[in-house]
Amino acid sequence: MQKILIIEDEIELVRVLQSYLEGSNFTVFSSGKGDQGLALWAQEQPDLVILDLNLPGMDGLDIAREIRRKDETPIIMVTARVEETDRLIGLELGADDYITKPFSPREVVARVKAVLRRAGAQSPKSQVMNLGSLEIDLDAHKVTQAGKEIDLTPSEFTILETMASHPGRVFSRLQLLEATQGDAYEGYERTIDAHIKNLRAKIEPDTKNPTYIETVFGIGYRFSKDAAS
Ligand code: CA
Repeated sequence: MQKILIIEDEIELVRVLQSYLEGSNFTVFSSGKGDQGLALWAQEQPDLVILDLNLPGMDGLDIAREIRRKDETPIIMVTARVEETDRLIGLELGADDYITKPFSPREVVARVKAVLRRAGAQSPKSQVMNLGSLEIDLDAHKVTQAGKEIDLTPSEFTILETMASHPGRVFSRLQLLEATQGDAYEGYERTIDAHIKNLRAKIEPDTKNPTYIETVFGIGYRFSKDAAS
């Protein structure tokens, strides 16, 4: 059974989510305090974390950073307002999805399943990623689009692999640059734009309306969730 950790201080909300998730055969752990929630994460190593933004003990933002520093555990961030979600995306948090309150528990369960499915299908442990008509073979460093082999440079391959491993997650240019170079030099971030342009020319059926690599204005890029499912 997959384990879900809920870090949320609204007890009633936790109770409802827990019963819906358990009804879908998940094992659920929860904590109403940020610092305790983070300790529980380290102890239980859950498959996914549902993380409230405003928490006593430790802020959801700090918890997400701390988790991301150590591991790739998928995170669904819960916010009280839409504007908070926008702000979080701007902070390049590395959450895999965002949910704004109030939400239906059914929707949360659907999102949890979708994020876990993507994380499983695109886990770095699986050697071949299948994303719509795009296939990425991590061992062979080979990419095919609709069965046709695509020739990518090492940088293009790394950028694609990085984003495709986390569909829906926003990557800043600096993060993508770090992925290609190990450590990034600020100021060279615009070279990522050139790589993205070349990648799109190679994998997008229509480069004017990209369906795989989406631009997130003012922040960076992400691999489309739709393309991955
Ligand atoms: Ca709260």
